Amino acid sequence: MERIALVTGGNRGIGYAACKGLAMAGLRVILGSRDAGRGILAAETLREEGVEVDTHQLDVTDQASVTSLNEFILTKYGRLDVLVNNAAVHLDSGKSFLNIPVDILHQTFEINLYGALRLCQTFIPLMKKHDYGRVVNVSSDMGALSKMSGRSGAYRTSKAALNALTRVIASEVRGSNIKVNTMSPGWVRTDMGGPSAPRSPEQGADTIVWLATLPDDGPSGGFFKDREPIAW
Ligand code: NAP
Repeated sequence: MERIALVTGGNRGIGYAACKGLAMAGLRVILGSRDAGRGILAAETLREEGVEVDTHQLDVTDQASVTSLNEFILTKYGRLDVLVNNAAVHLDSGKSFLNIPVDILHQTFEINLYGALRLCQTFIPLMKKHDYGRVVNVSSDMGALSKMSGRSGAYRTSKAALNALTRVIASEVRGSNIKVNTMSPGWVRTDMGGPSAPRSPEQGADTIVWLATLPDDGPSGGFFKDREPIAW
């Protein structure tokens, strides 16, 4: 059966590479893009690279946008098998937490944490109906408590919270064939990671594709990098 996958923030960076990787693995991909036009352009570029995807507008902070996408998915496919919560911002790069306006923390959590939660709340009930789901939360080494250090406090705490969300939801769906995992892509050459990063977007997306296509006896509630468990 062709699995249906949604990637948030699929129009560029790691999300774009994840769309490509999932489509090449044989999944039917819906590329979510905050800006509809940029999503269409990304889908056209993928087509030129030999990969077909669907695209739909999706702002993860906007419940009306999530509801509209849910209606599209229900009408067109009737199911969703894979959810990749990739969309994120890093608004306080290198800045001290002691000087960060609380508004920056609000904006960061609205996208990086509440966005992922909103999508889980919308789509996991649909996954439950078909007793199949693979949720991949794209976190970061910077969200690991075991490696926590100074600077980028809004981003770091949002990713630590995303890791906690992963554990909570994985626990709530235990006993079903829904697997909820979190991962770090490493430091990747994207608009967020910058040009000096050692990894390509494809390398960053590899563990996303692996977690999105886990077999029924695969792990759930884990934190992974390079297809291996890492410390929380
Ligand atoms: P990026 O190049 O900055 O791309 C971010 C994506 O998120 C864009 O598609 C952006 O859409 C989308 N986005 C932002 N706010 C959104 C919203 N409200 N609704 C929907 N989409 C939204 O970042 P990236 O490097 O590919 O990062 C992807 C993921 O990997 C993130 O979760 C990031 O935290 C994580 N990560 C990245 C690195 C790295 O080195 N790059 C390292 C560790 C973790 P627009 O184009 O509309 O802005």
